[in-house]
Amino acid sequence: MTRRDAAENEPKDFIRQRIEQDIADQRLTGGVVTRFPPEPNGYLHIGHAKSICLNFGVAAEYGGTTYLRFDDTNPIKESEEYVEAIKEDVAWLGFNWTAVTHASDYFEELYKFALDLINKDKAYVCSLSGEEIRESRGTLTEPGKNSPYRDRSVAENLDLFARMRAGEFADGEHVLRAKIDMSSPNINMRDPVLYRIRHVTHQRTGSDWCIYPMYDYTHCICDALEGISHSLCTLEFEDHRPLYDWVIENANVNYHPPQIEFSRLGLEYTVMSKRLLHRLVDEHIVAGWDDPRMPTLAGLRRRGVPPAAIREFCRRIGVTKQDNRIEMNLLDFCVRKDLESTAPRGMGVLRPLRVTITNWQDHSLMLSGPWHAQNETLGVRELPFGGSLYIEQDDFSENPPKKWKRLAPGEMVRLRYAFIIRCDEVVKDADGQITELRCTYFPESRSGQDTSGLKPNGVIHWLSADHAIPAEIRDYGRLFTVPDPSAATFLDDINPNSLTVFDGFVEPAIINSKTRRFQFERQGYFCKDGGDAAVFNKTVSLREGF
Ligand code: ATP
Ligand code: MG
Repeated sequence: MTRRDAAENEPKDFIRQRIEQDIADQRLTGGVVTRFPPEPNGYLHIGHAKSICLNFGVAAEYGGTTYLRFDDTNPIKESEEYVEAIKEDVAWLGFNWTAVTHASDYFEELYKFALDLINKDKAYVCSLSGEEIRESRGTLTEPGKNSPYRDRSVAENLDLFARMRAGEFADGEHVLRAKIDMSSPNINMRDPVLYRIRHVTHQRTGSDWCIYPMYDYTHCICDALEGISHSLCTLEFEDHRPLYDWVIENANVNYHPPQIEFSRLGLEYTVMSKRLLHRLVDEHIVAGWDDPRMPTLAGLRRRGVPPAAIREFCRRIGVTKQDNRIEMNLLDFCVRKDLESTAPRGMGVLRPLRVTITNWQDHSLMLSGPWHAQNETLGVRELPFGGSLYIEQDDFSENPPKKWKRLAPGEMVRLRYAFIIRCDEVVKDADGQITELRCTYFPESRSGQDTSGLKPNGVIHWLSADHAIPAEIRDYGRLFTVPDPSAATFLDDINPNSLTVFDGFVEPAIINSKTRRFQFERQGYFCKDGGDAAVFNKTVSLREGF
C-alpha cells in the first residue's frame, strides 16, 4: 500500500502534523523512518494493528522507511513461533517492511554503550536482590534510598560487569543500574535496572549472552542506531520518556530520536493485553490464538475479516492522546462495508426444514443466479433445483403473525432465483415436530420469465436437498458479556454462549469456489475455515444488533 485511502481534505492527526512540520523545517536528514517494535511473546491483536497502520502508514505517505523490529530482550517469554506469526500478520494487513531487525542484533553495541555509562560513572553494578531493589525504590509520595553499592568505583563496576557477561554469577546476583536520582518524582528515574543476569538460551543468540538489557535501555538505543525519525509508542510510555532521553544523552549515542506517544486502542467486549490473551489460550477458554472470537489478527483473519476492513477501522478511529474503548460496532461496520461490495452471495441453510414439491416431475433442473446483484464482475453460478428442497426452519410459521413475509400453510413465497411455491401440507412426527412441508410449485413462475401473475408473500433462500453439501456453520458471539471486562475479574465475564454450531447445508458452488468469503443470503457473512473443508465461520451479521 502506498497511500491512505482517506479523503485528501481530512484533517491530519497530531503525529502527521508534526511530521509535516519536521519535513517543512528540513529536520529529517534521513527522511521519515519509523519502526513497529513488537515483543515476540504472543500474537498480534487489533490494538497492534493501530500501531502498525500508523507506523507503516506514515512512512508510506511521506516516502519513508519502516523497520519491523523484534524487541527480543526477554528470552524466557519469547519464541520463533511468535516471530513468524507476527511477520505473517503484518504482511497480511498489507504492509511491507524495509527490513526485519532485532534488538538482539544490537546486543554487542548495547554492551559497549553500557561500558560508556560505567566509565562516565553513570551506571553501577548493584548487588541487592530484586526484592531489596523494589523495597528501596520508594513510592509515589516517598523518595527511594540509595543502594549501598551505588558508590562502587568505576574500576570495580567494569570488572563486575565484565564478569557478569562472562557468566561468573548466578541469576539475580547482580544487576547493572543507571545512576540517576533515587529521589526523582518519576519512579522510572530512580536508578532503573539496565541489565540483568539470565542464564537462558536466546532464540537467536543462543548461549552467547547470559546478561540481557532491559526494555527502557534497549529501545531508545535501537531507535537511535536505526535513525528512527519518529519513535511512536503508546501513552503508558510517557512516564518513561525522561529515561529514554536520559539514556540517549548519557550513553555516547550521537542521534536522539523523539519519542511521541498516542493512545492505545481499547475495544469493547474483549481484552487486549497479551497477558490476558495468554490466559484465554492456556486455560482453554478459546481454541487457540487464532480462535475467531479472539481480537488477534490471526483470529480476525480466520473469522473472515478482510485486512482492508481493519485498515479502514484504524483510519476511522484516528490517532489521538485520549484513551477510550471503541465500540465493537465500528469494527463490524467496517467489515460489512468491505464485504458488502466484494463478497459473493450464495445460499446456506443453517437449520434445515425439508420441503417436498409434490408436482415436481423432472429429475433435476439447473437454474442460475448472479453471485452479486450489483457487482456483475463476480459472475453467475449454477444453482441446481429439484423436487426435494431445504429451507430455513425460521422461514416457515404454522401460525404466522400479521404481515408474515415468509411461508405458512396455504401461503406462497418465491424461492430466490427459482419458482413460487405454496405450502399445502405440514407433516409432523409423533412428538408434533414439523418434519416436512409438502408444497406445490408453479412452473410458469420461474424467476426472470414469470408469467404466473401470482403475488407471493416474500422471497426466501433454499437448497436442492439432493445437491446441498453438508456444512458445519459456526456462529460466534461476543467473547465477554460486558463491554469492559477488567483484568482482575475477566474470567467471570466470559460469555458462556459465544459459539453456536449448526449442522447446515450450503450450495455446491460455494464449496467449489476458490473464494473464501461469502454472504449467505439473508443470514450474514461467512468465511471458509481454512482449506476447502465445509466448515464456515460467521464473520458478521448483515445488520447491526443481530
Ligand atoms: P500488551 O500489553 O498487549 O502485551 P505490548 O505493548 O506489550 O502489548 P508489544 O509487542 O510491546 O506489546 O507492542 C508492540 C507495539 O504495539 C508497541 O509499540 C505498542 O505500543 C503497540 N501496541 C500494543 N498494544 C496496543 C494497543 N492496544 N493500541 C495501540 N498500540 C498498541
Ligand atoms: Mg511491550
